[in-house]
Amino acid sequence: MASAVTIPPGIRAKYEAVIGLEVHVQLLTETKAFCGCANKFGAPPNTNVCPVCLGLPGALPVLNKRAVEFATLASLALNCQVRERSIFARKNYCYPDLPKGYQISQYDKPLAEHGWLDVPTPEGVKRLGITRLHMEEDAGKSMHEGFADSATHTYVDLNRCGTPLIEIVSEPDMRTPDEAFEYLTRLREIIVYTGVSDGNMEEGSLRCDANVSVRPRGQEKFGTKAEVKNVNSFRFIRAALEYEIERQIEIVESGGRVVQETRLYNANEGRTYSMRSKEQAHDYRYFPEPDLPPLIVSDAWKAEIAGKMPELPEARRARMIAEYGITAQDAQTLTATRAFADQFEAAARAAKNPRRVANLVQSELTMRLKAAGLELEQSPITMKGVAQAADLAEDGKLSSKQLKQLFDLCFERSEDFGPVYEREKPQQISDAATLEKMIDDVIAANPAQVEQYRKGKKTVAAFFVGQAMKASKGQANPALLNELVTKKLEN
Ligand code: ADP
Ligand code: ZN
Ligand code: MG
Repeated sequence: MASAVTIPPGIRAKYEAVIGLEVHVQLLTETKAFCGCANKFGAPPNTNVCPVCLGLPGALPVLNKRAVEFATLASLALNCQVRERSIFARKNYCYPDLPKGYQISQYDKPLAEHGWLDVPTPEGVKRLGITRLHMEEDAGKSMHEGFADSATHTYVDLNRCGTPLIEIVSEPDMRTPDEAFEYLTRLREIIVYTGVSDGNMEEGSLRCDANVSVRPRGQEKFGTKAEVKNVNSFRFIRAALEYEIERQIEIVESGGRVVQETRLYNANEGRTYSMRSKEQAHDYRYFPEPDLPPLIVSDAWKAEIAGKMPELPEARRARMIAEYGITAQDAQTLTATRAFADQFEAAARAAKNPRRVANLVQSELTMRLKAAGLELEQSPITMKGVAQAADLAEDGKLSSKQLKQLFDLCFERSEDFGPVYEREKPQQISDAATLEKMIDDVIAANPAQVEQYRKGKKTVAAFFVGQAMKASKGQANPALLNELVTKKLEN
């Protein structure tokens, strides 16, 4: 959707945007942050609750150790310094989905600070600062829709109350919506790789508030920022930022002043709307949580957690490029998820030629997934199946045409490569005399190309292989065909 504001490029170029992101991530613990209730999405409303997460008087919170381990692991993966002693604080505000009247969070002594994340930009790799990473609990959910009396009533589901969260606050280091998009993509990837969250935006496991301001290029002082809230995909965040930047430039250009406020993005209209101005913003009256002791993460515990760090996506890509001789583009696709990368590596190590496995994924598999509207994880052909196909092709037991046909069948029938291959066992012509006859015909029909070959243009051999393969209806044994074509041309 096109945004509603259009600034002439000449004017746009006079300004620079400044962007900082606040990302909330739900942790994948079995139980909630301060009680034993199940931490699970999609349960019937108000079934996973207890006196602690309902905020009943007298109930006391007990910190979930696993949540601390996850938060610490994420902190280390994001290059943060983990504080040995951090403090929980009450963030007070009044809202129907917050029965306690406050959220347990961290304020001036957060779990971790001073991190960074490297992102690719058109000018090269850029290091973006992470100000802090702190622990907190989620609130419940108001349900405004879906009930017979929704026109007059709002319902509240408190299952989400007390879900462990980490909030990751970036420095105002991003300068374009693309950089923000890259930051979020990398951040999510790391969060998912470390296993601390599923990063599922539709289910709200990952939520982002985007802060943005504009300033004339060359000016050091930041402009006044607006905060865009509740945008539920990275693409929409990028679009919301693009809109917001133009809106702010237009205000400044017409002599006005940007007001500090919270705005909501409407994806259908491609624009943002004011939700509340800074004047109405909360005063949270933070104070240290009296019911929880300081959180101590000793060096020994930190080291133990660090020992569980998986290979992170960036490092993994670099290693895979070196180990399998694949391209950066291949590595990007193949590391889309940790499970997928694991599968690929297991297959690639067992396969005769890992590059062929990578190529098949990148070409034949990706193409069919796109056409079928499937994600990599939903592929009917497993990595093992791809490796099997690659080996057959490598051994010349399967022509590329046959391979394509088998892949098509796998997608039509939602079946893996192995069983389809066993059943179909494509015909292959491996009889030298039959193939030689076909090659002779092709050579006779193309004297000009034969001439070129004889004059030293050896690459023309591929043309003859192609023509003969076509004549065999894709059934010639490719290895044998290759060998015979060369032999014939040399004679
Ligand atoms: P607030 O006090 O309004 O919460 P913070 O200083 O805590 O603001 O910053 C919140 C987020 O906004 C951070 O991610 C930060 O990088 C970003 N930010 C701060 N100032 C600006 C600005 N002028 N323009 C864009 N982003 C900003
Ligand atoms: Zn509970
Ligand atoms: Mg702040």
